Amino acid sequence: MLAMKNQVRKTISLSKLPVRQRHLLKQICRLADERGLSVYLVGGVVRDLLLKRKNWDFDLTVEGDGIAFARLVADRHGARLVVFERFATAQLVFQDGLKMDIATTRRESYAQPAALPDVEPASLKEDLYRRDFTINAMAIQLLNGAQSGRLIDFYGGERDLRERRIRVLHERSFQDDPTRIFRAIRFEQRFGFRLERDTGRLLAQAASANLIQQLSGPRLRNEILLLFAERDPVRTIGRLARLELFRFLHRRLYYRKNVKRVVIAIPKALAWWARRFPDSAIDRPILYVMALASGSSPLVMKAMIRRLALLREQAKNVTVGKSRIDRALKKLTDTKTIRPSQVHRLLADFSDEALVLLLAEQISRQQQVRLSLLKRHLAAYVKNRTIKTALTGRDLQTMGLKPGPQYKSVLGKLLDARLDGTITTEAEERAFVQKLIGLAG
Ligand code: ATP
Repeated sequence: MLAMKNQVRKTISLSKLPVRQRHLLKQICRLADERGLSVYLVGGVVRDLLLKRKNWDFDLTVEGDGIAFARLVADRHGARLVVFERFATAQLVFQDGLKMDIATTRRESYAQPAALPDVEPASLKEDLYRRDFTINAMAIQLLNGAQSGRLIDFYGGERDLRERRIRVLHERSFQDDPTRIFRAIRFEQRFGFRLERDTGRLLAQAASANLIQQLSGPRLRNEILLLFAERDPVRTIGRLARLELFRFLHRRLYYRKNVKRVVIAIPKALAWWARRFPDSAIDRPILYVMALASGSSPLVMKAMIRRLALLREQAKNVTVGKSRIDRALKKLTDTKTIRPSQVHRLLADFSDEALVLLLAEQISRQQQVRLSLLKRHLAAYVKNRTIKTALTGRDLQTMGLKPGPQYKSVLGKLLDARLDGTITTEAEERAFVQKLIGLAG
């Protein structure tokens, strides 16, 4: 499907790179010259250099023994090195935290669809051919002590970049590796590109087949979370829904109107949250998974968590559940007064992501007065949630209370009183406990 073109040869200046990266490439280039090796920048970094987008995630590839070369670079620079023999790749982490991958140019073959590939050394041309899309299949050969480089573009990547197209390199691409379905959507959405016609057809075919089902949980999770980490997940989610790809998370996961409303409200909820609590770091990709699952039954949610092999913390977030959200919303948007301690009880085991979801759910209901009430409660709750009692279990013991289940209830009552502001000092706490003990005695 891809007419083989004459290779483009064009010189690219590397002078726009930050000093640190330029200096490092210069040293690597010198080392490669000493060994008589050709070194190339490859993949996303080349694409982004041409697009003038910042990307300092350098992938280098070497025609020759990439791992031996990576060891040499790591030795010279005191960098940490992790080697993945199976993929002929090594990852370096320099002392200042800069990361770099160095690989051997290689070809890949797929024993069966969706399996991890078998890898063997090959030419640069073959190495570029195994890649996902033409725009990611270019290399820059480092020249002149890395002051410049020669663009190597066998497959028309530069033209596709100019014409804003995503194009696979061959017909079997999505079958070999169905994660490319998600990667295509990721780049399409990120750059505002479109899928080239044949690529669009192949993607739709691959999406309607059951290829994605064969992906392992962690690989599927990774792709979904990467998609939701992009700038505009709402649009991406719409795209995934139109391709009916959510059925691979669960066959009964539908993008119905009510779920869509919550998803659309997430950016607004996030903006409010970030303004109010700039120090709270929200796991945005997981939040979107939670929003997607927000209309599902607990059974569907559980199955989805298993399918995506979510990590424990992520799974805990997702299972917050519709019924608890509905219950909290009912109480927190009622005009009847509710004490801070009651709010605390309702929300105490909600993660920050769950609180943002709660807010998005209310935004999606378009009831202004109730929304203002909820925002007020949320702001007060987050401000107060660090409040603790001055007394601990040990204090209760020295005050003569026999250890037992009543500790939890006494400390709970103390905390409620603190939250509601009826007690503000340690002395008042002690008096409160004395009174309780007296009552009990
Ligand atoms: P991003 O900016 O999202 O990091 P990237 O293109 O750098 O994009 P990586 O996942 O870091 O993405 O991959 C680096 C390069 O490796 C890609 O540019 C591409 O050439 C190749 N690659 C990565 N994943 C695949 C895949 N599934 N199939 C084929 N080639 C891939």
